[in-house]
Amino acid sequence: MRKMNFAAGPSVMPLDVLEELQKNLVDYKGKGLSMIEASHRGGMFEEMYDECLADFRELLSIPDDYDVYFLGGGATLQFTMIPMNFLLKGTHADYLKTGSWANKAADDAEKLGDVNTLFDGKDSGYTTLPEPESVKPSEGASYLYLCSNETIGGIEWQSFPDTGDVPLIADMSSDFLSRPVDVKNFAMIYGGVQKNLGPAGAVFIIMRHDMLDKRNSNLTAYMDYAKHAKNKGLYNTPPVFSIWAVSLVLKWIKANGGAEGMLKNAIEKSGYIYDVIDSSDFYRSPVDKRYRSRMNVVFRCPSEELEAKFVDEAKKEGMLGLKGHRSVGGLRASLYNALPMEDAASLAAFMKEFERRNG
Ligand SMILES: *Cc1c(COP(=O)(O)O)cnc(C)c1O
Repeated sequence: MRKMNFAAGPSVMPLDVLEELQKNLVDYKGKGLSMIEASHRGGMFEEMYDECLADFRELLSIPDDYDVYFLGGGATLQFTMIPMNFLLKGTHADYLKTGSWANKAADDAEKLGDVNTLFDGKDSGYTTLPEPESVKPSEGASYLYLCSNETIGGIEWQSFPDTGDVPLIADMSSDFLSRPVDVKNFAMIYGGVQKNLGPAGAVFIIMRHDMLDKRNSNLTAYMDYAKHAKNKGLYNTPPVFSIWAVSLVLKWIKANGGAEGMLKNAIEKSGYIYDVIDSSDFYRSPVDKRYRSRMNVVFRCPSEELEAKFVDEAKKEGMLGLKGHRSVGGLRASLYNALPMEDAASLAAFMKEFERRNG
């Protein structure tokens, strides 16, 4: 019996994909070796990889003048690579400090260059975002950086600022492919795959090719985006297993309605949980309603004791990963693409029952 996995990352995978991986792990499609034993310079890997990149492009209609590839190092390495490449001496970058992940990115950038804080959600406890229309890049900014979904705080941009000629860079680790996104409004989109796309190990990079003209070209090889773009992400050994699994998840997304289909599901799944919260005096959401995340639903019970009890009892029902991040406490249900609809419905039913017994 599979558990219901509400963990924030690593997180639930589509069962079909796990079974496909299992079926082909030892002997990939009758070729007599495993994908994770094959050279990344050989036909077997490259065939899978090319198809993966093609599916990736197709799912978001990524224009041809964008490079797409995968790297290692987690989303966290990008907190460093972005300023190393684009935050040049004599320039500055605008950061929107909207919570744990955007703030970590800003902290790293500050070590490398001049950061202008365009927004800081500190006073609200990082429970709200600026209105997208109000966000204007500062004069001469080399880029504007934001995090599309704060995985820990549970807030998500519903639409994005128009930054004009200033390149917009977004960390979409935790809501990527949960909705359609107009890629051409961004200079760069990246994210760790372990939230919505596959097992940990790979980071996807989508970058407009002309960004390379603006980069610091005097970097060590791995840190230089041009090296990776030129080699389609195969400058060094890529995270093969993670990419293989992502390739299967992309096919699963395509078979389930693409980004539009994922959005429809995300609205329905998060709707189950927010409906319970909104119709109750027992649960509360600390988050500005306008920016509620459809991926990570953060909520509280009347006391920390009840929250601990909630986590314990949910676990007994086979529901895992509901404890809020250690930095903020409370409860959090992550409802990524692969989480079955029934699991969200089961959690909503459990919440009502828990309230009835403890309210
Ligand atoms: C998880 C997460 C990260 C960090 O990812 P790592 O792969 O662990 O480095 C960064 N940004 C967001 C939005 C995340 O959810």
